[in-house]
Amino acid sequence: MIVDLREFERFPATAILEAKPGEVQPFTDEVAQVNWVQARLNIQNTGVEYFCKGDVRAEVRLICARCAKEFVAELDGDADFIIRSDALALTEDERETDDEEYVFYHGNDLRVDITEQVRQALVLAVGMKPLCREDCRGLCPTCGVNWNDTTCECTPVVTDSRWDGLRNLLGNNN
Ligand SMILES: [Zn+2]
Ligand SMILES: [Zn+2]
Repeated sequence: MIVDLREFERFPATAILEAKPGEVQPFTDEVAQVNWVQARLNIQNTGVEYFCKGDVRAEVRLICARCAKEFVAELDGDADFIIRSDALALTEDERETDDEEYVFYHGNDLRVDITEQVRQALVLAVGMKPLCREDCRGLCPTCGVNWNDTTCECTPVVTDSRWDGLRNLLGNNN
């Protein structure tokens, strides 16, 4: 996804970018497919640098962390980075103290590829454990059926040890 800074006559400017099909590949193990990606950036020009802030939205097929079923989800992430000339590349010291995210353009070519910044925003938007629905019941650990679709006759395995004390107290040691 390319931002072409020559397109804007004045700043602040708004850039709306759409990823071409296949341009943003599945970016974590939880993502099975990327349907579309859009970035909307507000760009401020300080004369030396371009501050870019905005949001990245995408529709993806995610794999549920509990039942492994695929489901469609819309992601909403934040982008925040600075575009500057590679003549202003950071020194080693600056890189250590400066936690801004930079994208560099080369010479007078005011185009930069921000696919990586978009990808990072979406990785954060997926979160740790995507669920097909909040109360997803997951798979039976014994027979593997999807408890959202069906039930099974397996004996539930009690793994919650917090109740052991209470069970002993009641003299009920099943
Ligand atoms: Zn699920
Ligand atoms: Zn079962």
